[in-house]
Amino acid sequence: MRMILMAAVAALPAAGKAEVRTGDHGIVVASNADKTQEAMGELKAAATAFERTFGVAPPRGIVMEEGSSEPVAEDGFAWIMPWDFGGAEEGPDPKIVASMRTQIVEQLSAGGRTPSETEVDAVLAKGLAQLGPRKKKTEVKPLRHEIAHALYRTALWPAADGQRQYGGGAPDWLDEIAAVAAEDEVLTAKRRARFEAMAADDRLIPLEEFFTMEHPLFGAVTKMLDERGRTNGVIRMTAEDFEAMDVDVKGAPLDFYAQARGVLDYLNQEATQPHVLTAMTEALRSGDTMEGFLRQRGEEYGLPRGLRGMERELKASAR
Ligand SMILES: [Zn+2]
Repeated sequence: MRMILMAAVAALPAAGKAEVRTGDHGIVVASNADKTQEAMGELKAAATAFERTFGVAPPRGIVMEEGSSEPVAEDGFAWIMPWDFGGAEEGPDPKIVASMRTQIVEQLSAGGRTPSETEVDAVLAKGLAQLGPRKKKTEVKPLRHEIAHALYRTALWPAADGQRQYGGGAPDWLDEIAAVAAEDEVLTAKRRARFEAMAADDRLIPLEEFFTMEHPLFGAVTKMLDERGRTNGVIRMTAEDFEAMDVDVKGAPLDFYAQARGVLDYLNQEATQPHVLTAMTEALRSGDTMEGFLRQRGEEYGLPRGLRGMERELKASAR
């Protein structure tokens, strides 16, 4: 534990001194008190949702402000989440600067003369001042969503060695449900609205497909990580990363999250015993399918005996 803390502190931006807070579910290391408090709240929310959903004690972990090279889990901590808190001011978009510079050179070149570098820089500086500071975009996914993934993956279904998957070792829908279960009310309301719209348009993902499909972002994320030469399995998506992806990939992940929310709500409402997702996890981990699980244990949980029945009930639940 001491080694981790030292590594974490050393990894913070040189000027700042680290704030370290210890809570019931782990520790947070960040460069100021606001961030540690924010992260501690997210950690608590994720841990509470995890325990409620799966009935399993959330493993303790570390949330650490980004900047470290390669954190390694040590005694007493099951996971580490490096995190970019965002919100810092950044310079203007380089693309915008380049295009402004081109326009300035063109304007100053009117009449055939060649403007000096200093002249161009001076005009550019004025233009940039008018643009104002650019706020760094916030993460697409909130911290508690990512912590919930970490809790599920370490407690219930770690990835096998060398396995490359968007999540841990679990099927993507199950891993994603664990994370969606921890999201706040605002995001949850959006997911539900989207799920209802999908049902109304009759474009829910068929359950047989949903329960076996790869996360729609997996291909794009893998490609990006490969391009960066990163294969350590730590995936953090920023808004910029998301923007950089193919346009047609964007709707699919939102549908996937929305349906994860819809399935979770359906199970919470219909299952007559708690923690059905833990039972599903155990069945799937031992090699069973969802069809097999429902056939053998559906009745025990007050659920249909097969996917087709569940499909009907899920659709009805969306109205
Ligand atoms: Zn996720």
